[in-house]
Amino acid sequence: MAEPSCIFCKIVRGEIPSERVYDDGLVMAFLDIHPIAPGHTLLVPHAHHENLLDTPQDLLAALLAAAPRVARGAMAAVGGEGFNFFQFNGSCSGQEVFHLHFHIIPRRPGDGVRYQWRQGKYAAGEMAALGAKIRGDIPG
Ligand code: AMP
Ligand code: ZN
Repeated sequence: MAEPSCIFCKIVRGEIPSERVYDDGLVMAFLDIHPIAPGHTLLVPHAHHENLLDTPQDLLAALLAAAPRVARGAMAAVGGEGFNFFQFNGSCSGQEVFHLHFHIIPRRPGDGVRYQWRQGKYAAGEMAALGAKIRGDIPG
């Protein structure tokens, strides 16, 4: 289930170096090489899955079970008081490495980290119409 050209598969297999901080044989975590903040960690499954949509539920459960433990470790190491937890699905979302990974980014008050959200608003009735459409489009 490894993808020969995938950089995170190579990291999982130990073929390229990483600063591994957690590994339970199913999922592992290592430091992001270009940290948004100190302790920025990536949590990945050993098996190659592109993103959230093609990852089996039991593996997602293992990742989510490990996430708070890794986050606690990362926060403790850098004196974090909170953390961001996010991931990208598809290149249009900003995904650059197509092996599922969750970013765990320890945060401190006044750390200067900024995310550029540009939030909009709905016209009258638009939110309810979209809500109904999404409810209908969620697969059973
Ligand atoms: P994205 O797919 O947008 O979540 O971005 C991939 C992330 O992987 C970026 O934050 C990179 O800094 C990180 N990254 C890429 N290559 C490596 C590597 N060899 N070791 C650690 N982190 C990496
Ligand atoms: Zn991979």
